[in-house]
Amino acid sequence: MSQFKDILEEKCPKCGEGQVFAKKGNPLLFRMPAMNANCPCCGHKFEKETGYFFGSMYVSYGLTVAEMISVFLVAQFFVKSFGGMMAIIATLAVLLSTFNFRLSRMIWIYLLDGKNRQV
Ligand SMILES: [Zn+2]
Repeated sequence: MSQFKDILEEKCPKCGEGQVFAKKGNPLLFRMPAMNANCPCCGHKFEKETGYFFGSMYVSYGLTVAEMISVFLVAQFFVKSFGGMMAIIATLAVLLSTFNFRLSRMIWIYLLDGKNRQV
C-alpha cells in the first residue's frame, strides 16, 4: 500500500523521499513533464540505460485505453452522437496525457526498480 502511495506521489523507489519529476507538465501550455536524472535525496539514477522507459509506453497505452473505455461507459448515457463521443474521448486523452506520462513511468520504475525487488 505504501508503494501505491509512493507511485501516486512520484517518490523515489529506493528512498521514498526524493521526487522523480522536477516539472509536472501542462498539456494546455504544451509543457511536457521533466524528470530528475538522479534522486535529489539519495542520488539513485532513474534512467538505468538509454531506452529504459520504452516499456512505459505500453503501460501508458493501457492506462489511456482504460480511461477511454471508462469515459465511454459513462458518457454513452448522455451523448448520443458518434462525433460528440469522439470529441469527449479525444479531449480527455489530451488533458490526461501528462498525467498518464508521469504515472506510466512511475509504474515502470516501481515494476523494475522497486524497493522490494530481489536482484
Ligand atoms: Zn531516493
